[in-house]
Amino acid sequence: MIYLDQNVNDYDNDFRTMIQAFIPREKIILTEEDTRLTFRARLSEEQVVLSLWENGKQIDEERAVCYYPDKKTARNPIKAAAYYLLSRYCGKTLPWGSMTGVRPTKFATARLEQGWTEEAVIREYEDLYLTTRQKGEICYRVAKREQELLQPFRFKEEYCLYVGIPFCLSRCLYCSFTAYPVAQYQDRVEDYLQALFHEMEYVAKKYSNKRLVAVYIGGGTPTSLSAEQLGRVIDHIYAVFDTRYITEFTVEAGRPDSLSREKFLAMKERPVTRISINPQTMNDKTLRFIGRAHTAQMTVDAFHLARECGMDNINMDMIVGLPQEDIQDIRYTLDVIRELNPESLTVHSLAIKRAAELNIQMQQYQDSIKGSTNEMLTLADQYASGLGMVPYYLYRQKNIPGNLENVGYAKPGKECLYNVLIMEEKMDIIAVGAGTSTKLTFPDENRIERVENVKNVEEYIRRVDEMIGRKEAGLQEKQL
Ligand code: SF4
Repeated sequence: MIYLDQNVNDYDNDFRTMIQAFIPREKIILTEEDTRLTFRARLSEEQVVLSLWENGKQIDEERAVCYYPDKKTARNPIKAAAYYLLSRYCGKTLPWGSMTGVRPTKFATARLEQGWTEEAVIREYEDLYLTTRQKGEICYRVAKREQELLQPFRFKEEYCLYVGIPFCLSRCLYCSFTAYPVAQYQDRVEDYLQALFHEMEYVAKKYSNKRLVAVYIGGGTPTSLSAEQLGRVIDHIYAVFDTRYITEFTVEAGRPDSLSREKFLAMKERPVTRISINPQTMNDKTLRFIGRAHTAQMTVDAFHLARECGMDNINMDMIVGLPQEDIQDIRYTLDVIRELNPESLTVHSLAIKRAAELNIQMQQYQDSIKGSTNEMLTLADQYASGLGMVPYYLYRQKNIPGNLENVGYAKPGKECLYNVLIMEEKMDIIAVGAGTSTKLTFPDENRIERVENVKNVEEYIRRVDEMIGRKEAGLQEKQL
């Protein structure tokens, strides 16, 4: 336990995030108990004094000269002071420095808009946020590519559609998505599709004066549906929406054990432009451990089959930081992916969310991390460059050990625009299905509103009209 002792709690969240980044999984408390460490913050209008205490004795101190009530100017120096203090105590640095938050590229985007040079942007990441040069560079590269990709869009007149298929074949250890075992729910799939179609019809009507530019079918694993059912989902989209302006249609094919020639052909015969086949790792031992009921060879076979069926834009997802994997395992996974030569590669740092089974085994998992996940990310970056790919979106999630990031790489022209649009939060993303979240944008007020659907499949089927009602209420403000 760590005692966070502060005379003013304006920076409570920043201190907590920084302590947790350095000392993960240690409980932070606000009352003095039998704690091994005290993080003391004394904020006055002249300066901020941060100190660490052990057994009643001060062991270190760091000061920031700033006017703390003005968060705009004081936040960075205060976070930097906390960073230096904890860095000395723990004897380590963090690749993202004092930078917290899920969208670290937004600073680079803002600077690019102001006309800053590449070097100036990277230097700001290093000097102000104390990141490594490599993190500054990747933020610059992503922001630059994003800017190019977003240029043709007219955000106010366009929207994206997300369709959630909350079924999967079995449950992976780290899964936190809405994913019901399809075999057990077989007799509910049809009712689910009917409810989904009903919600789609509402959205199509409501958004009839806007242009649908990108569709993403995700889950769960959409290809856990039969080829006929999947075909019907796509057909229904084409039946009820004005699809003239769709530039991209992605289906998350996900698990190789859910794929077949019939399903690839069902997608290819329809206007699906991009799929994702996700190995996560090419090491069978790890696949067994994380509960993915397929082998690496099945991923390779599914990839070749997809190519045979004419799929020419395939993404692969992989995860760094899986239990028991070291950098050699990552190198092996990347070698196999390089052989396959997909159009894009998404590299995730393993996030342990509350809903995941792995959370229960967290301590055991912490002990099984082998080496630096940041080095693994750097290696993936090198392989992606070798495949001619450029990073085009990047985000961080809470609960990623070491506060690391997820990065999407793609060969130019093969990016998933939906991924960029959902990250930028400038365009409405309308989501249908159980466990999905709609994002409504209000650019003039610089805000977004979320409208959530229930996660439970039975509840969704039963309460779909209520979900439509929630959307209707959210959309009233937009005056479509
Ligand atoms: S394949 Fe994806 S959706 Fe299915 S259980 Fe695994 S993580 Fe969850």
